[in-house]
Amino acid sequence: MDFTLNEEQEMIRDVVHTFVENEIHPRAGDLDRRGEFPLALLGEMGDMGMLGMLVPEEFGGAGSDTLTQAIVVEELAGSFASLSLIVAVHAWLGIYPILRFGTPAQKARFLPKMATGEHLGAMAMTEPAAGSDPLAITTTAVRSGDHYLLNGTKIFISNGSRSAHPIVIAATDKSHGARSLSAFIVERGTSGFSTGTREEKLGMHCADTAELIFQDCAVPLENLLGTEGDGLKIALSALDHGRIGIGAQATGIATGALRASVTYARERKQFGKPIGAFQGVSFPMADMATRIDAARLLVYRAATLADTPGAHFGTQAAMAKLFASEVAMECTSRAIQIHGGYGYTLDYPVERYFRDAKVTEIYEGTSEIMRIVIARSLLGREFSS
Ligand SMILES: Cc1cc2nc3c(=O)[nH]c(=O)nc-3n(C[C@H](O)[C@H](O)[C@H](O)COP(=O)(O)OP(=O)(O)OC[C@H]3O[C@@H](n4cnc5c(N)ncnc54)[C@H](O)[C@@H]3O)c2cc1C
Repeated sequence: MDFTLNEEQEMIRDVVHTFVENEIHPRAGDLDRRGEFPLALLGEMGDMGMLGMLVPEEFGGAGSDTLTQAIVVEELAGSFASLSLIVAVHAWLGIYPILRFGTPAQKARFLPKMATGEHLGAMAMTEPAAGSDPLAITTTAVRSGDHYLLNGTKIFISNGSRSAHPIVIAATDKSHGARSLSAFIVERGTSGFSTGTREEKLGMHCADTAELIFQDCAVPLENLLGTEGDGLKIALSALDHGRIGIGAQATGIATGALRASVTYARERKQFGKPIGAFQGVSFPMADMATRIDAARLLVYRAATLADTPGAHFGTQAAMAKLFASEVAMECTSRAIQIHGGYGYTLDYPVERYFRDAKVTEIYEGTSEIMRIVIARSLLGREFSS
């Protein structure tokens, strides 16, 4: 497999990298401390076309592929993981399902404003008693005349309170097993749709994580995504792509941690030498660099497969997410060690990278669920639980 980036991908990486260095890096720490949703940065990114990468040109986007989007997320995560989360969710859980499963009318209606970032995307699956097991979802959607009535509560929804029209996964017929769920585009302002608690979290302080509440929420029939019973298929398809994004995010966070460590190891002196001169410091950095490269290659492989018509990539996406998220945890922890006591303070960004890294092992399928996906591809479904 050839992972050489083409000219356009190189150009986009350079543009985003420069934007991150000049505009994002100087602001990320303060924003994180205030837990502020980065609206101004998102506005600038929208103007630059960074929020509509996956949207085809006919709807005002860049028409880019999965790999290019992954590169953007990785670059953002190298400095400001919260922002990379907002973008990754917007792209793969918001835009992608409409692009892949939407009717021509839904695409024409929703994609143009998502392409500019005026409307942010989200997907609401998780509920208080339904996390790893989506078939435990109890939010219901009952057809009634020209609409569905949704009732239930979703939790932990990224971009939840900011999204103009989250995609909500609800049960239309619990007796239909894997086809018991359906997906709905629920527009803000629909009666019976409200935002509940916004979570305070260990990390990702600037990313919105909200509860969404549906009480006799009347969603028009034309907002059903795919057909009735397609909900699980749509969600899993979005997650297969999304996991490539989280792999890219984790790779970016690990890269940020390594970059900070290299700078620090050159500057900090002990025993009359820069600490980078001690193998106790330089060897862990060599290991970090090697493992980050391996993570990146797994992400690129999964993304390249996702961009290959007809290719299966779910297992490769799970491997990329599993490995990259563990690399992110390991590298951010090592980065704090290399910074010594300073790494434990708010004066250096590595404590933020460490806090942000943890959730990459949890959302869009935990590491245990990733192992189940991978083991299932080896042994068959009957061996997994
Ligand atoms: C910051 C953040 C953002 C999120 N964004 C979204 C979002 O945008 N949309 C959305 O729908 N959800 C979102 N989530 C929810 C997230 O996807 C879930 O938290 C995750 O899927 C795990 O579900 P759970 O928390 O209910 O844990 P549980 O499923 O209860 O799992 C608890 C533990 O048990 C383990 N476990 C569960 N089942 C098995 C099994 N069969 N074998 C082995 N181990 C198992 C898990 O791996 C985990 O370690 C977000 C969560 C966070 C923290």
